Amino acid sequence: MQLLRTYLADFVSLIFPQLCPACRASLMANEDILCTDCLYNLPHTNFHKQPDNIVARQFWGKLNIEAAYALYYFNKGGKVQNMVHEFKYNGMQRIGNLLGNIAGKQLLQSPVFNTVDYIIPVPLHKKRLKTRGYNQSACFADGLAAQLNAVVEIDNLIRIIATKTQTHKSRFARFQNMHEVFAVARPESLINKHVLLVDDIITTGSTLEACGIELLKVPGLKLSIATIAYAE
Ligand SMILES: [Zn+2]
Repeated sequence: MQLLRTYLADFVSLIFPQLCPACRASLMANEDILCTDCLYNLPHTNFHKQPDNIVARQFWGKLNIEAAYALYYFNKGGKVQNMVHEFKYNGMQRIGNLLGNIAGKQLLQSPVFNTVDYIIPVPLHKKRLKTRGYNQSACFADGLAAQLNAVVEIDNLIRIIATKTQTHKSRFARFQNMHEVFAVARPESLINKHVLLVDDIITTGSTLEACGIELLKVPGLKLSIATIAYAE
């Protein structure tokens, strides 16, 4: 019976192959979401073993963080880009969860990251949340939280749109302002806590920096940063 079931599963996957979102190869019946090759061989950064890594350096002198981490290196046209694209635009929330689990297992080995109390994803614009239906960074956060035994807070860090005193500014300055304004809704719950701020891809780090500045206004808050990928 077991053999027949395996045979049937293989047969079904032959007709309707599930594809690996990173390399597009057909998944075997015993593979889920990612193929075995991608599961082990995507370009891991191992930043959790390197406190002065390139992502941490980006924040030196700008943001007082405990530690920074990215799970993978992101190369244009590469497998990690394929995967993040599927995850963002094709509704594959399970990828985010899986990546959060993989990252969480690595972060557990770090004496800094394993003290995280709260995980806060960078909030999406309300409009984008409506069209996409979910915040991809929140899916990553859920996977991380399961491993790190931490709590995900999705509505504490919020995007606000500044509407006052902007009439005299140039169009560009207004645009910038509207994209970079964040606030902490319930600061009292984060006092003296270690908060892990998460996002999907880090490039310039400016969004994470804007969020971090607001979070660090909370008394005694310790801040760390984790992303799915680092793009050079
Ligand atoms: Zn693959």
